[in-house]
Amino acid sequence: MSAPSIVWLRDDLRVADNPALHAAMERGEPVVVVYVLDDESEGVRPLGGASRWWLHHSLAALDESLRAIGVTLTLRRGAAAAAITQLVADVGAGAVFWNRRYGHGPRQVDAGLKAGLRDGGVVADSFQANLLFEPWTIQTGQGQPFKVFTPFYRACLDRPEPRQPLDEPRSLTAPAASVASDALDDWGLLPTRPDWAAGLRETWTPGEAAALDTLEDFATGALADYGDRDFPAQEATSRLSPRLRFGEISPFQIWHRMRGALPDASRERAQSFLREVVWREFNHTILFTSPDLATVSYRPEFESFPWADVPESEIDAWRHGRTGVPLVDAGMRQLWTTGWMHNRVRMVTASFLIKNMLVDWRVGEAWFWDTLVDADEANNPANWQWTAGSGADAAPYFRVFNPVLQASKFDQHRDYIRQWVPEVDDDDYPEPLVDLKASRRAALDAYETMRRTPVETEQS
Ligand code: FAD
Repeated sequence: MSAPSIVWLRDDLRVADNPALHAAMERGEPVVVVYVLDDESEGVRPLGGASRWWLHHSLAALDESLRAIGVTLTLRRGAAAAAITQLVADVGAGAVFWNRRYGHGPRQVDAGLKAGLRDGGVVADSFQANLLFEPWTIQTGQGQPFKVFTPFYRACLDRPEPRQPLDEPRSLTAPAASVASDALDDWGLLPTRPDWAAGLRETWTPGEAAALDTLEDFATGALADYGDRDFPAQEATSRLSPRLRFGEISPFQIWHRMRGALPDASRERAQSFLREVVWREFNHTILFTSPDLATVSYRPEFESFPWADVPESEIDAWRHGRTGVPLVDAGMRQLWTTGWMHNRVRMVTASFLIKNMLVDWRVGEAWFWDTLVDADEANNPANWQWTAGSGADAAPYFRVFNPVLQASKFDQHRDYIRQWVPEVDDDDYPEPLVDLKASRRAALDAYETMRRTPVETEQS
């Protein structure tokens, strides 16, 4: 009797460069590939709406790729440890393989499951697949995690070159008996009433094949313009973020593509692009050591920040791009329509909410979590905390982005603003929700108040 291998996919919805899938292939027994929709496990953050939309389409694409090599995608729903344990029993599995994730809650789930499976005599192995550098391998001379990006980056570059990507398995064997699976359509991942996903459908094609095309197009095209990456009207960045978030592509594939043949004009840009990819690694390292990154300020003094009591209607004006500040409105509408926002504008919109409206960074983080297709449990809170000044290696709080100056510098001809806020020059375009100068002053006063508040520690 064969004892199939289970491959449990999570943030790695790809067939190529997938060490867990590779391990199952090498083991030689029939293979069951499963994705578990887990909205129940403690400490595992349920996906937001835009991410659910992406997940639906990415899973559909993955199922097609798997069918082409001989297996199908099994879908289960519920607390992951129980769902996998059940699947092991259903198919009489002899091994379970997965690729690692780095948040505290997910790690707890995985560690508990691994111990339980091994106790029951089932092989359980996890692999490095989604980060180039495991968080515990990049440390200061004193053996501590880095809190500052540049030395972290240097330490990464001092490590041996990341491994080459693994090939995709040519063929896998499914178990003889069929395996019970949910139907993807029954999961309700897509919006119905209202259907807000038209702009997402127009903008994106989720799935591994499209992810690889995106990388190739970028390497041979826009990478040459990466020096202009701060200009939101230009398509100078890769747009690989949702691909990396769902693991449709691995950072190893990206790394080695950037080290491979490139047009001359792009060669020196490739390193500045990889530096951004390493920011993702840095943020995951911070997440690894800060279980509450999305809910607690990394710098404890920010827990006493005197946030304003802002009416929900004003926060809604920010969410839906009706603040009367053109660059902020443009960014928030790009986000709502496409599920993605340009990085420079993410900083400006976040700074406006936190520092001009004096709204707690967690409110904005939650909105981005729900609306971004690349919403990532490390990158989203870490970048919100970066903007708030409460994070590791963060922008200082007193550096308040002026959205008008930012627009004149990075969107000089208002191409980006006009694309998203066509009525910007009309008489009825609203006055700014807040006075930029006065609100900046109020933010700096609030910051001073915080600085005078003693930090509560466990001893005090
Ligand atoms: P590129 O410039 O092509 O960069 C390549 C890759 O490097 C990106 O796909 C991403 O994985 C990584 N990267 C680039 N910039 C950063 C950065 N500042 N921090 C960490 N990794 C980076 N990024 C997310 O992936 N998920 C999020 O939830 C997220 N939330 C953010 C919230 C705020 C308030 C801010 C200011 C930034 C946020 N970012 C987030 C970071 C950044 O804006 C996006 O990664 C980037 O805009 C994605 O576009 P791109 O793939 O074209 O970037």
